[in-house]
This record gives sequence, C-alpha cells and structure tokens, in this order.
Amino acid sequence: MRTRVVIAAGFAAVAITATGQSRQVDLIVSNAIVVTMDGGSRVLPGGAVAVDAGRILAVAAAETISTQYAARQTIDAGGQVLLPGLINTHTHAPMVLYRGLADDLALMEWLEKYIFPAEAKTVSPEFVRAGTRLAALEMIQSGTTTYADMYYFEEEIGRVTRDAGLRGVLGQTIIQFPVADAQTPRDGLARTEAFLKEFAGDELITPAIAPHAMYTLDRATLQAARAMADRYTAPVLIHLAETAAELETSQKAHAMSPTRYLDSLGFWGPRTLAAHAVWLDDADIGLLASRKVGVSHNPESNMKLASGTAKVPAMRRTGIPVGLGTDGAASNNDLDMFEAMRQAALLHKLTTGDPRAVPASVALAMATIEGAKALQMDDRIGSLERGKRADMILVSMRGARQTPMYDPISHLVYVTRGDDVQTTIVNGRVLMRDRRVLTLNEAAVIREANVHAARVRAAVGK
Ligand SMILES: [Zn+2]
Repeated sequence: MRTRVVIAAGFAAVAITATGQSRQVDLIVSNAIVVTMDGGSRVLPGGAVAVDAGRILAVAAAETISTQYAARQTIDAGGQVLLPGLINTHTHAPMVLYRGLADDLALMEWLEKYIFPAEAKTVSPEFVRAGTRLAALEMIQSGTTTYADMYYFEEEIGRVTRDAGLRGVLGQTIIQFPVADAQTPRDGLARTEAFLKEFAGDELITPAIAPHAMYTLDRATLQAARAMADRYTAPVLIHLAETAAELETSQKAHAMSPTRYLDSLGFWGPRTLAAHAVWLDDADIGLLASRKVGVSHNPESNMKLASGTAKVPAMRRTGIPVGLGTDGAASNNDLDMFEAMRQAALLHKLTTGDPRAVPASVALAMATIEGAKALQMDDRIGSLERGKRADMILVSMRGARQTPMYDPISHLVYVTRGDDVQTTIVNGRVLMRDRRVLTLNEAAVIREANVHAARVRAAVGK
C-alpha cells in the first residue's frame, strides 16, 4: 500500500505517493452526485471522476480522487448529477429539418405523401450537413453523447458528427427505389462499402449498414447487405415490424412475420439492431433473443404515428438488450432522450396496467447501459466505470420543477428535461460547458437550418 501525505497545492489537494507524485490527468469532474449505471447501480453523493486520454481512470469519492490525481482541467459540478451520456439508439439526424412538417398521420401516409416526396426534392450533401449540425447541436444540448443513425449521404453525417465531437453508429441507408444518393440498391451497396472504408477504425464513428426495412428491399439486397456486414464486421441497423401494415405485407408476400422472414434469409446475427420491433409475437421475440439481436424502442414515434406498443417488458425478460430511441425528429418531434425515458416509463404502465412494468431505473438503464448493450458497445460506453470512454453529462437539479430531490434516478426520468443538461463530455472532450456549446456555432447552425427550411417549404408547397 502506498503512503499518502495530503498537501494543498493550488486548487487541488495533491497526494504525495510513494513515488512522490500524484498522477497528472486530463480532467477531473468533482463534487457531483455520480450515477454510475455500473453493475451495482452505484450512486455516489460527493463523488468524482478522473479522466485521462479519453478514458475513465477512476470513479470514487471526491476526496479520494483529489488525493490521487491532479488534473489539467477540473470541473466543479457543484452538486449536479453526473451520469453516463445518453445513447439514442435510433434516429435519422438530418430529418430535424422536417420537424413539424407533417403531423398527425399514420406511418405509410406520412411517409408516402410527405416525407419521401420532400426527401426526393430536398436531400443533398449540403442539406444533410446542415441537418446533422442542427441535430448534433440539439443532442449535445440535451445530453446525448452517442447516437445510431440511418440516412442518406451518411459520410457527410460522419464528418459532421466527428467534428461536433459526438459518438455515432452511423448506417448508410440502402433502399430499393431511387433516392438522393443512389439510383439502385446496387449503387447504395457500393456507396455503403466506400463509407465503411472511409470510417474504418475511427475513434468516434462506427460505420454501419442500414438496409431500410424488409418491406422496402428485395431478398437479394437484404442478403447482400448482411454479407457485406459480415465481410467488414460492421453493425447492421434495420427497421423491424414497425406497423401492423408491415406485418400484413409480410404475411401476404411470405406467409411469415417480418422477423421470421428475415431469419429465413439468414439476416439476423450479432451486431444487429432492430428499430421499433412493435409487431412481434412470442416466437419472434424468442428468435431475436436467440440471434443476439438488440432492439431500439421508440415510444414517442410509435405513439405519434399510432404504430402500436412494443412488448418491452417481454423482450427484456428474454434477455434482449432494449435501448431507447427518439426516431427522426419528423416523427417525435425532438431528439430529447429524457422525454424518451419518461414516455417509455409511462407508456408501459398504461398498456400493461402495471406501474412497475418499466420503472425509472429501467428507463434510465435503457437510455444508457442497455442502449450500449443493444449496440454491442457496452465494453466502451453506457456506464461510468474505470476503463470506459469518458462520455458523461452533468445535469442541474436546482429548478423549481426538481425541488426537492429525494432520489436522483426518479428525477432523471420523471422531471428532468434536456435543457437541464449543463455540461456534455464525449471521449474526455468537453463539448458543452455550462450550456455553452464549444464545438458548434449555435447561431450559425440555426441560421443555416432555416435556409434549408425555406427550400423544404417551397418543395412541398407549405
Ligand atoms: Zn426510423
């Protein structure tokens, strides 16, 4: 055991270890209520986290950290809650530019009358860059540090996301009909392969393949997408059984559920995330569990489009990791993961008649460690533990709405909003400090988004 003599040096109490030195690190976040989301669900009042080279070195009582480490940058949390950054397991970032364009419609009418035509006229690399900047700004401001995306021109999304400092599992969309970045599925596959190569080994961006859905792709393309994913050990993101109409289509065309049809093609495997997974029977759920598929639950989008209620408690009971997603902002209409947590917790109480169906602790887990498991990234993110990447957020609990606070977990799910996030850190880099975003020019991002909104308005005659 090392002997420690605590002396005061500058702002920090610095320990003299057996070697006479306290360890120099990049960052210490101190004086926080640390909600770790680790295996023991530890909450440390008066806690601190030491970070070096983008990784968490230690999570402990503030005095312990200050005696063992000296930091180049210290953030005094002033009693705020420090928790793992939130993981949005399903969105379409640039669709923030269609926010509020068409509401109160069912999925197929919404897609076919509004979204697909608007996309055909407005999606371009420039549009995607502007939309992703706006989405990144909103995510940083509301505490999302990792997001899974499915869209077009995904390489543009990758570059903007990396510059903004966020972590992304970004899937290049493949779809049967001609779209802005590909005339044919073959073009889409070629573009996807180039995308996988461009971002291979990137620290923040995990390039993925995003075949849109079983009802928008033929058998050969679905199988080609799976084969490419296997060749590159890349994640696969797909929409699954989102609506009753999809189930009906699958039954008619293949005499099988969408889940079983995709299984019959050899589509399911690890590193695969199914978004929505609403219309599943028990056999489908068992199948996804046995194939180690992760699920992204999107309560707000499913409610808004009246798609149905995913059987989240049943999926979780079989061991399927279920993360939370917002879906694109056009069907939500924001990217606030705190709202996603709250709606998940409330929705399943209502539909099951059981107030314990999704308790606050589970909703918070779904937005953090379970989301990481669903993306098979729980070795790197999802909890505050030694060795993991330093993706974390500070949340103020000082508002009237949050007073008093008996239980931080309850407050994070039932009263906190994205705006309560004060500081956002990804990979040890501070992206927002005390509400000031450091990696994006907020005014410029909003100005640019409004330029594109005018084009969207002209394109759809609104
Ligand atoms: Zn979606």
